[in-house]
Amino acid sequence: MSERILRGRILSFHREPVGAGDEDAFTYHEDGGVWLRDGMIVGCGTFDAVSKRAGTLDVIDHRPHLILPGFIDPHIHFPQVQVVASWGEQLLDWLRDYTFPEEMRFADAGHAARMAGAFFDLLTAHGTTTAVAYCAAHPNSAEAFLAEAHRRNMRMAGGKVMMDRNAPDGLIDTAQSGYDDSKALIEKWHGRGRLHYAITPRFAITSTPSQLAAAGALLAEHPDCYMQTHLSENHDEIAETLRLYPDARDYLDVYDRHGLLGEKALLGHCIHLEEREIARLAETGSRPVFCPTSNLFLGSGLFDDAGLRARGIVNAIATDIGGGTSFSMLQTLNEGYKVLQLQRQQTHPYRAFHWITRGNAVALGLDDRIGTLDEGTEADMVVLDARATPEMKLRHETVETLAEELFLLMILGDDRAVAQTYVAGEPMKVPA
Ligand SMILES: [Zn+2]
Repeated sequence: MSERILRGRILSFHREPVGAGDEDAFTYHEDGGVWLRDGMIVGCGTFDAVSKRAGTLDVIDHRPHLILPGFIDPHIHFPQVQVVASWGEQLLDWLRDYTFPEEMRFADAGHAARMAGAFFDLLTAHGTTTAVAYCAAHPNSAEAFLAEAHRRNMRMAGGKVMMDRNAPDGLIDTAQSGYDDSKALIEKWHGRGRLHYAITPRFAITSTPSQLAAAGALLAEHPDCYMQTHLSENHDEIAETLRLYPDARDYLDVYDRHGLLGEKALLGHCIHLEEREIARLAETGSRPVFCPTSNLFLGSGLFDDAGLRARGIVNAIATDIGGGTSFSMLQTLNEGYKVLQLQRQQTHPYRAFHWITRGNAVALGLDDRIGTLDEGTEADMVVLDARATPEMKLRHETVETLAEELFLLMILGDDRAVAQTYVAGEPMKVPA
């Protein structure tokens, strides 16, 4: 039995903060304790109270660092670890010139397995304990991803990309093989350990109507799987989609008419939306996923967080590696802050840290299991050091409040600010 107490400054949100001063939205203990047993959180509170209840246990003292729930990244491309930082294109050319050739390499099981190890090492080094990932079209890329996540006992979701047109021959499946391969992966992996399957038609351009129908059938047969795809990222992409689907009322309608929308639908980008699409997103409870570093890198556009939220839509926030440029959810908040600033939308650090923890868990329907430090939830945590670099240390001298410290972390922090990451109660980094 594995049991221990983590001591540190504990921060966990129990609802989304409203406005700058909303300190009732979270629990914060300056000298806190999180009691872990067999991968679960069994107690959380002041260190004195927790240690009194727990009795004599090993204590790992992380003071003066902050202990938060592990970060959640709900849109990331596993086969694009080596695509990050590829120069000079916008979406469609970038896919053709960089992404598709790289994803081709995942036909090789050895390459897929090596990249899976590197991928999860990178995630945990950046404090991310849950992600929803696109794999390549080859089923063995999803096999490598899911097997490695399972071996590491991580709460992960992923799926083989379905694409049966407008991609190179070596990457293309068919409506039938995409369905069969996805179904076999669902039967093998979905619900096993901490894994979820995500049915993954890449986007409208790379799927025929019959493949989207097959994806819709899969989702109807497995309604507790996620469905992930891309929506309205780029103007050329939208024009091409409407050319390929002349009967669709708009881009979203392409997915809607194939039964792909709902609370399990994670729609990457959602930048250039029509009014009807916004109303339909709200009606179906579908989840837009804001990917700021990617939207800036590919020059795609500005996500209207406040506009969608005002309609009752639940927005997630994610890295979108490799269109995105950082595995760090802190750097994702940094760039997201700037994208929203350009639209006169200010993201308070309380809301920002809620977003990458409990907020993304709510978007995934997993807030009863991850995203907080509540008793009875899974012990995935990140330990943050706001003095991790010389610059942060100097800036920290003038910090007076928790909100200021969080803002410093999200603007200046990255993997260097991650002192430790716990997955199911186990530390991922060997102490220096
Ligand atoms: Zn993407």
